[in-house]
Amino acid sequence: MKIDVLTIFPEYFDSIFEFGIIRRAKLAGIVAINVHDIREYATDKHRMVDDRPFGGGDGMVLKPEPIFAAIENLIGTSDRDAYPTGTQVVLLSPQGKPFKQATAQSFADLAKHIVLICGRYEGVDERVNDALVTDEISIGDYVLSGGEPAAVVVVDSIVRLLPNALGSETSAENDSFSDGLLDCPHYTRPAEFRGMAVPEVLLNGNHAEIEKWRREKALEKTRSNRNDLLTGENGDM
Ligand code: SAH
Repeated sequence: MKIDVLTIFPEYFDSIFEFGIIRRAKLAGIVAINVHDIREYATDKHRMVDDRPFGGGDGMVLKPEPIFAAIENLIGTSDRDAYPTGTQVVLLSPQGKPFKQATAQSFADLAKHIVLICGRYEGVDERVNDALVTDEISIGDYVLSGGEPAAVVVVDSIVRLLPNALGSETSAENDSFSDGLLDCPHYTRPAEFRGMAVPEVLLNGNHAEIEKWRREKALEKTRSNRNDLLTGENGDM
């Protein structure tokens, strides 16, 4: 998989993909991640990437020209219908569709080339969305000062689902959301710590019982923290 990130703050990403699973996936050639400065695609003499909003109001808006030029350079066309199969152009935006584990899984399964556009200030000129973007994505119901942290969230959650990205010692199968439930609680040594004992069932080696206990605990936790996952309220799966 190839991932390109468009940002006006490329240094933000200097070391953020250099740890753990994502670093290993890069080294193993499972994913190539490249970060591009939107400013490098600005052609006017001041290399402007933002301008004042039409209609007035606060703040600045990222201009369309450099972003169109960047997409043409990275994909070969700014005609969305002509993007190669498996090419997704993602705009990070609080107005986007909620990003879920299922979204990450479908990108991991189907996408070959993902371009992420990070907004700043009041956002990005809407013509970018109208003409270039295949997926407008929000990572949650809150407003960030830029799309960069959201891009990191999206990249991380997709890359760990790519085949062979997780070592054989771990698997995404039992992770929260994979089966519609949160994960169960986990414990490690010591078996007793400051008067708190690890649940007995985990120590007795009875795998059927352990599985049953884990399922019950996952359900309990889901009911208490994320009942919407069980009832389907909130438009959740
Ligand atoms: N005026 C916009 C917010 C702009 S915040 C609005 O109210 O909708 C600046 C940038 O941060 C956005 O362009 C977007 O790229 C990013 N951003 C902010 N919140 C986000 C979220 N919840 N998910 C994804 N990106 C977000």
